[in-house]
Amino acid sequence: MTTMLGVSLAGRDVLFAGGGSVAARRLPRLLEEGARIRIVAPALSAETAEIVESHGIAWTAREVREADVADAWFVHTATGSARVDADVAAWCERSRTFCVNASDGAHGSARLTAETRSGDVIVAVASDAGVDPRRAARVRDAIASLLERGALPVRRVRASARGRVALVGGGPGPVDLMTVRARRLLAEADVVIADRLGPVDVLTELDPEVEVIDVGKRPGHHPVPQDEINAMIVARARAGHRVVRLKGGDPFVFGRGGEEVAACLEAGVPVEVVPAPSSAVAVPQAAGIPVTHRGVSGAMHVVNGQGELTAGTLAALADDAVTTVVLMGVAALERIAEGALAAGAPLSRPVAIVESGHTPQQRTTRTTLGAAVADARAAGVRNPAVIVIGEVARPDLLLPAPAAERAHAR
Ligand code: SAH
Repeated sequence: MTTMLGVSLAGRDVLFAGGGSVAARRLPRLLEEGARIRIVAPALSAETAEIVESHGIAWTAREVREADVADAWFVHTATGSARVDADVAAWCERSRTFCVNASDGAHGSARLTAETRSGDVIVAVASDAGVDPRRAARVRDAIASLLERGALPVRRVRASARGRVALVGGGPGPVDLMTVRARRLLAEADVVIADRLGPVDVLTELDPEVEVIDVGKRPGHHPVPQDEINAMIVARARAGHRVVRLKGGDPFVFGRGGEEVAACLEAGVPVEVVPAPSSAVAVPQAAGIPVTHRGVSGAMHVVNGQGELTAGTLAALADDAVTTVVLMGVAALERIAEGALAAGAPLSRPVAIVESGHTPQQRTTRTTLGAAVADARAAGVRNPAVIVIGEVARPDLLLPAPAAERAHAR
């Protein structure tokens, strides 16, 4: 019978008897933990020699002796000789030192596990009887893949001393367009602060104990002001919580993610950012529009429709070979179309307005700069929508030639 024990070897003396390929495989793990390692071996394999050199590990070039075991908290023996390994294991037994015996089929008083980590969770797999490292690795890998995509209940039950913040991009809406990292961080979260846009369905999967705060704008509700959101994020993290700030699209594309990162940095709260498909690219894509297309558009200009029409935006709008993508632009469509025409863009410049991209409500209105305002009004276009202005928004852009002819004939 084996009891699995998590031991901390950081700063403790560990002896490696033997410097071959087994040592080379296992050294990195103990080095990472910060063990004080010494190797006793007549010779080192090339890989071990490299590790020894790069980490400044003490190496004694001779056969291992009983006295070597004396100072060690833990011994790893893989000398290539089952007899020597058995001797080392016996010396360890006498000096009450735990020992891993790497000889085939043998194991000493300790065994190394196949490990995987996710955040601060460690899962270790071993065989209770005999050794079967390949099975252990397979079980470990299967668990690792579940951990990776947030499919296991890894949320802390006991608060940790140190909170942290993850600004997580959720993509345009469907849960399966979220990254595995986003899913994992959600599985770990104590608090989720969410917007109205993005993968809101994922919130229903959370534990009932997870605090979910909706800071999004909805009809009849004012959005929570940004400085209050910042304060909320920082306060929860300081209270030791793992905070996920879940955002639609990418956090750094018109998401005010930069301000939230700055607030965390200022407060000394650890913060990470997880990127995601932005609606600037993914919503046109949902309507079959590539934002760039060889020979048609070689650049894209992404702009917030609520802002000023700058010289740069007007130049992009007037340029045949640039795609202009407008977010938050429904209310500003008239101003943008007029600006574009005044800047020299043709009335016939294709425009596509894609509402609720990647959701069951997705709808695309195809029009031109000259007709955009009237067509949008007639269709009753509403937010959230992405407006694509440029030749890539031509309805027949990706159709094969005969189909394109039919599309023109219509
Ligand atoms: N950070 C987000 C953008 C936030 S600004 C991102 O990278 O996508 C909000 C704007 O994004 C909306 O006004 C709309 O223009 C656009 N948007 C976000 N999701 C959308 C969707 N599913 N369909 C259409 N537009 C969307």
